[in-house]
Amino acid sequence: MIQPGSESLQKIAVVGRGTAGTLAAASVTHLHPDSDHELHHIYDSRIPVIGVGEGSWPSLVQHLQELTGFTHETVQKRLKGTRKYGVAFEGWGRRNRDFTHYFTPQQVSYGYHLSADLVESLLRKSTCARHIDAKVVNITRVEGGAQVEFEGRAPERYDLVFDARGFPRELHPDRHIDISFIPTNTAVIRRCPATIRQEQDELVLEHTYTRAVARPHGWIFVIPLTIHTSYGYIFNRDISSLAEVEADFDVFLETEGIPEFEQRAVIPFPNFVHRQIYDGAVARIGNAAAFMEPLEATAIVSAQLQIGMVLNMRLNRSVEYLERDAPVVNRFLVNNMLCYGLFVGWHYSCGSVHDSEFWRHARNSAWPRHRTAADPEMVGCTALRKFDEMIELMNRPVIDKADWDRMCAVPLTSYAQMSQGLGV
Ligand SMILES: Cc1cc2nc3c(=O)[nH]c(=O)nc-3n(C[C@H](O)[C@H](O)[C@H](O)COP(=O)(O)OP(=O)(O)OC[C@H]3O[C@@H](n4cnc5c(N)ncnc54)[C@H](O)[C@@H]3O)c2cc1C
Repeated sequence: MIQPGSESLQKIAVVGRGTAGTLAAASVTHLHPDSDHELHHIYDSRIPVIGVGEGSWPSLVQHLQELTGFTHETVQKRLKGTRKYGVAFEGWGRRNRDFTHYFTPQQVSYGYHLSADLVESLLRKSTCARHIDAKVVNITRVEGGAQVEFEGRAPERYDLVFDARGFPRELHPDRHIDISFIPTNTAVIRRCPATIRQEQDELVLEHTYTRAVARPHGWIFVIPLTIHTSYGYIFNRDISSLAEVEADFDVFLETEGIPEFEQRAVIPFPNFVHRQIYDGAVARIGNAAAFMEPLEATAIVSAQLQIGMVLNMRLNRSVEYLERDAPVVNRFLVNNMLCYGLFVGWHYSCGSVHDSEFWRHARNSAWPRHRTAADPEMVGCTALRKFDEMIELMNRPVIDKADWDRMCAVPLTSYAQMSQGLGV
């Protein structure tokens, strides 16, 4: 197939080798039709990758198979992975009933629980790039492309730069949409022995679920891998102290019958969407583009969407359309990220079995702010209207067949399951 944009896309940079940068570099190699294009994969080996991100959506299964050429079985084994069929919610909502948010078709469609550290080594052989270990100090748009400035090396000009440098240090209202209607901002990560039984190197076919367990200070994720089980306590450091959270984490692990754990990290995080994800020459991807807490594991799937949209538009459209295409792609991506944010924030709208300060704040103070935060006038897209339409559909006695394929970042079936489970 002739790809009219490929001529104007001969020199590309990917900055960052976390999950987002790694996927971008492999995607450029896979999708670019000209074998003599130049790809620079740039990262500062002194700045660690975030290293968490162990839940995914089903689209990753197909995507990794396409990028590597390996069978699904090989990919799963290389990632020390298990098959994730959904998220099992415990103690959420007003119904006092545990429930599961399944991927659809239920019990058929699965994503991976994967070891985040292994994604880079899985994709290394599928990526054809020059590796540059250097600190990037600036990425700026220049005529017909973008310039990358380094510490201690001469700057380079590229036709397209993927900026996958992770979270911004701080949020600026001019550049970021603050979505702190999602009421959490910190994670404590622990690792415990694996609970999944695996005979030697056999493929694990067992259906597994990410557990999301409501706790007084927030919630705990439990992700079963074949090498360990990952636990994370997600909370709000402005409401609960680290000592209180650690103490409740201990109680939880004790009731689960887990005698030992390895303390991994305490990670503060922002909840935001960048207003300028793509400007035609620089594409922010992964945690640099948007972030929201990991309740629905939306980060890797978002990075896949950002990379796929940008690369396909650049390759398949002639460069003469670039100036018109870029704002459209940007609006689409901002809208999609904001829809994910609204979906995740909505999970808190009915509280939980815990009548604690955190849950009162989440339900009564944080979530009601979503209408101001996502006001179309302020964000330049219609995510809030789309979200309201999904909620309106949930309230109908019968949903017309014509509406069954509707989506607001996630499919109608996800909204229906969450609505039932939470008691919205
Ligand atoms: C508690 C928690 C749980 C999570 N769970 C999930 C989950 O279950 N599922 C999911 O999809 N996501 C999850 N995430 C999100 C996860 O962080 C992302 O999926 C993923 O790791 C993407 O990170 P990244 O590649 O954007 O950035 P990072 O991993 O932060 O990588 C940044 C890269 O940029 C490089 N870099 C930074 N600055 C410079 C510079 N100046 N010059 C050169 N190089 C630079 C670094 O060296 C590094 O290689 C979770 C996040 C948190 C905090």
